[in-house]
Amino acid sequence: MTTMMRVALSGAATLVAASITVMTQQPNQLGYDDTPMQPNGKWRVHDSKRPQPRVITPGPSPAPAAAPSDATVLLGPGADLSAWEMSDGSAATWPVKDGVMQSGKGYVRTKEQYSDFQLHVEFATPSAVKGDGQGRGNSGVFLAGVFEVQVLDSFQNKTYPDGQASAMYGQYPPMVNASRGPGEWQMYDIVFTAPRFNAGGTLEKPAVVTVFHNGVVVHNATAFLGPTEHKQIGKYQPAHAKGPLRLQDHGNPVSFRNIWIRPLKNYDE
Ligand code: MG
Repeated sequence: MTTMMRVALSGAATLVAASITVMTQQPNQLGYDDTPMQPNGKWRVHDSKRPQPRVITPGPSPAPAAAPSDATVLLGPGADLSAWEMSDGSAATWPVKDGVMQSGKGYVRTKEQYSDFQLHVEFATPSAVKGDGQGRGNSGVFLAGVFEVQVLDSFQNKTYPDGQASAMYGQYPPMVNASRGPGEWQMYDIVFTAPRFNAGGTLEKPAVVTVFHNGVVVHNATAFLGPTEHKQIGKYQPAHAKGPLRLQDHGNPVSFRNIWIRPLKNYDE
């Protein structure tokens, strides 16, 4: 065999190997059939057979609304990242310009910790569409640091239902897919009640969330089954009673702007 022939043959072998890899990876974008069953015993985590949420049109993006006067502005106009730090406590390094922060290397989190709150977040996935499934415009809003509301470009981008935009990742798909197109500004308005534990550290009440995606209810006082994990559901721990807001680096550039939070108190407080 000549050297040329050997090179050609090994090239062909590499191509075959590469296409086998692609064929085995693609189904994972659409879900799994070997992950644990959820506690309801109906669906697996990232179940490929779970129905896709109905697609609706939420209407055009409004101009960014000003934060209420009693909100803590976490990301406002300008280039101020003083509310944020990296997950190891070092200074936040995500690029920020004119009030828009872009996801960078590593997760960012707020310096402050929160338990019960109302949260407003605006985000945009890249207008130049790249990748598919979980690889397109993936980031995430982690409540109390561990409960993820998924950020993804879910405009004509199929993935497992509990992994699409505004899903309680790995647990519940949104009730409808209210995504806007790539590059368009989108909003999450979130009401979060942190989990409660008794003195012995046993879970008394799970974390509960209501989420509006572009003004449309996608979760209505739904309890998290546990903290978010890939391909499984985590276990509640007393430390989850309070935590920072965390934004995910999933290797895709996602823009954020106009983020504010209002810690919630009881009536008459
Ligand atoms: Mg994510």
